[in-house]
Amino acid sequence: MKDLIRLLILLLSINLIAQDYTVDLDYYLPKDVSYNKNIPVPKSVIGHEIGEWHITHDKLVQYMFALAASNDRIAIENRGTTFEGRPLLLLTITSPGNHGKLEQIRKNHLSLTETDSNNSNLKEMPVVVYQGFSIHGNEASGSNAAIVVAYYLAAAQGSKIDDLLDNTVILLDPSFNPDGLQRFAYWANIHKNKNINPDPNDREYNEVWPGGRTNHYWFDLNRDWLLAQLPESKVRINTFHNWYPNILTDHHEMGTNSTFFFQPGIPSRTHPLTPSKNQEITAGIAEFHAQALNKIGSLYYSKENFDDFYYGKGSTYPDINGGIGILFEQASSRGHAQESDNGILTFPFAIRNQFTAALSTLEAAVAMRQQLLKYQQDFFRDARKESSKSNTIVFGDEKDASRVYHLAEILQRHKIKIYELREDFSINGKTFKKGYSYVIPKKQKQHRLIKAMFEKRTTFKDSLFYDVSAWSLPLAFNMDYFEDTSKSRTGSIVSKLKKPDVILPQTSNYAYLMEWYDYNAPKALNKMLQKGLVVKVGLKPFSVENKPYDYGTILIPVQNQKIDVNELAEFIKQIAKENHIKITGVSTGLTEGIDLGSGNFKKLDAPKIALIVGQGITPYDAGEVWHLMDQRYNIQVTKLDTRTLNRVDLSRYTDIILPNCRVSALSKSVAEKLKTWVKNGGTLIGYKNAGKWFNSNELLKMKIKSVKDSAQNISYEQKGKYFGAKVIGGSIFETKLDRSHPIAFGYKNNRLPVFRNSTIFVEADKNSYNNPIQYTDNPLLSGYISKRNLEQLKNSAAFKISGLGKGKVIYFTDNTNFRAFWYGTNKLLMNAIFFGDKM
Ligand SMILES: [Zn+2]
Repeated sequence: MKDLIRLLILLLSINLIAQDYTVDLDYYLPKDVSYNKNIPVPKSVIGHEIGEWHITHDKLVQYMFALAASNDRIAIENRGTTFEGRPLLLLTITSPGNHGKLEQIRKNHLSLTETDSNNSNLKEMPVVVYQGFSIHGNEASGSNAAIVVAYYLAAAQGSKIDDLLDNTVILLDPSFNPDGLQRFAYWANIHKNKNINPDPNDREYNEVWPGGRTNHYWFDLNRDWLLAQLPESKVRINTFHNWYPNILTDHHEMGTNSTFFFQPGIPSRTHPLTPSKNQEITAGIAEFHAQALNKIGSLYYSKENFDDFYYGKGSTYPDINGGIGILFEQASSRGHAQESDNGILTFPFAIRNQFTAALSTLEAAVAMRQQLLKYQQDFFRDARKESSKSNTIVFGDEKDASRVYHLAEILQRHKIKIYELREDFSINGKTFKKGYSYVIPKKQKQHRLIKAMFEKRTTFKDSLFYDVSAWSLPLAFNMDYFEDTSKSRTGSIVSKLKKPDVILPQTSNYAYLMEWYDYNAPKALNKMLQKGLVVKVGLKPFSVENKPYDYGTILIPVQNQKIDVNELAEFIKQIAKENHIKITGVSTGLTEGIDLGSGNFKKLDAPKIALIVGQGITPYDAGEVWHLMDQRYNIQVTKLDTRTLNRVDLSRYTDIILPNCRVSALSKSVAEKLKTWVKNGGTLIGYKNAGKWFNSNELLKMKIKSVKDSAQNISYEQKGKYFGAKVIGGSIFETKLDRSHPIAFGYKNNRLPVFRNSTIFVEADKNSYNNPIQYTDNPLLSGYISKRNLEQLKNSAAFKISGLGKGKVIYFTDNTNFRAFWYGTNKLLMNAIFFGDKM
């Protein structure tokens, strides 16, 4: 009895003694293997055990270079940099013998994807595995595990590793998101206690806005694989197409109380363009993960959530490129150890699961090597068979070479072959001009990917989506396009993409005119305004010197500027050249329509823009605006934090943008402050939920429809699905534009596709002139929406504006800047900024 009590006291006291949880490298590594002593262990370079601290990206880089230098299994390269200048490393790991003939192996491998590949030498060919980690920077167990994986592959000895390295080329991408990883490591490390405290309430486990998930401009990099707009993705996509990996793994983290997830995901939510064989192979690979996790006693599951629908994710992108994409999700310790439903979840435990799954992937790859290679060969062969011979897609916009260029750029990043248009032609009221249009033959290697990018889909097996249900690129770009069967339109192949040359304007003594169609027009205008020039916008169309000019044409008079005629001419030419934009010098003010001296030309002011960011604001939406201004248009924005909003002087700003937010994010006093600022002449621009806040604070009154219904014949088990089906995860809808309204300047068509991922429905105004952007009677273009929501959306307003004192309050129901690839609606925000006070 005495002993028992003593034991009990001992056990209790162990519980009370704070733990350290530090483990050494052996904890992670397979025990039945010996390791080369000449290979540096991580601690010898980074100064701590793996999992003891969160690896910072700079230490990760330091170790990887040291490791690569120590042996001949690893080649290391820096493929580019993040926005914050961090290197985007790739380690190519294979046997020294394979390294000696790597280029030959690569070419051989690529031949499987080429026309009528007869390569029957699958027995001899290595399999290619791309392993990527922590694309969400605050899901850090992945990148920390990547170090152990790299060490293992460099140092392990014996026939098993030799066999693995002989039969595999491993592309190890240790940190998909260096800026996010660094940001998160800083957070977790600065809060680490000597006596680790697993209390979830500790600050260590609760990041401040915007957190480490995203990249520099707060983008979710795991949505950008298809869109390829961000530097990290461009580099990755390049590596992908350089090798066409057979398996690509994407190591993530999920909620602390969960366990470990590996794909397959929910079967009914696989994209229909993905062959069913893909999911069979994924299930085959899954058996290796299960076995490996059984061995270390870790709980796991598959098939119950996550999906393979949106091709913009790392685990889905390979599925439309002849490979197998696999998602791993590890319960997150967030910091160093945290209480969970499964006991204390330590960081090392999370890292070990990731490491184990990384190794079981390689084991599966070796065992299933020939099957994977054969699948890849069949994928591309079948894809070619699916496409009829002469079909092409022609796309273009005779008014906007920049937008056309950016779409073509995406296609080229995915190694889709595009061709010049042989000669100009018109069809269905649209004109396609050489230099402003391209031709995509559908019969090519990337046939299926082209389909995935261009198709419109409105019927689905399932009504739930992990992410968006539509991303059709021509709609996102608001691009004229059509499918053609005439081969005669195809000109020469485009090897180096460039914008058509612009004819620079003649020096004028009178005025210059710039139409507002081009994607870069706002950038050009901003530069003129920042220079202090007098610049005006034409509110009506007109013709001068035999050329028609549309709504929103920019006028730069020559007289009474701060600079003389010649200096102005040079400056205007420079802008035209930089932006590939057409600017015309004219010699008369007399036009058909409004003369250049008319009161219908309104003077524009240089904008001083503030963007509200911080707690309560959706970081993605805010980051998209920041990125658009800073990267695309060179427009300076001040990021105003919600914490300081109450005490800053707003009078220095002409425009304030409030992205989607929690309605409770901003206080009553902030509302009053903004109201005063608007009354004094400011333009307040809000998105999505900001409208509800505008409405309740009487900044902008509108009727927001409320949809009330109750569940009928829905069981408790079906409850989640019932609510999920009401969500608009992201679909594309058609609006009609009133092109005479300044919000629609620069659009040549009177229909505009918009992206929507919310269920805010605003009643249209009873006066039609107050509805310049309105959903059509039959608005669904692509994606999923419930019948009830569709009814609400029909004919509702997408835009509201109201005067308040001397200023304006402007509201968009939907995000015009989604994921940096919605080039088609970016101009709406620029119109609100430059012309808001003219509306
Ligand atoms: Zn993630």
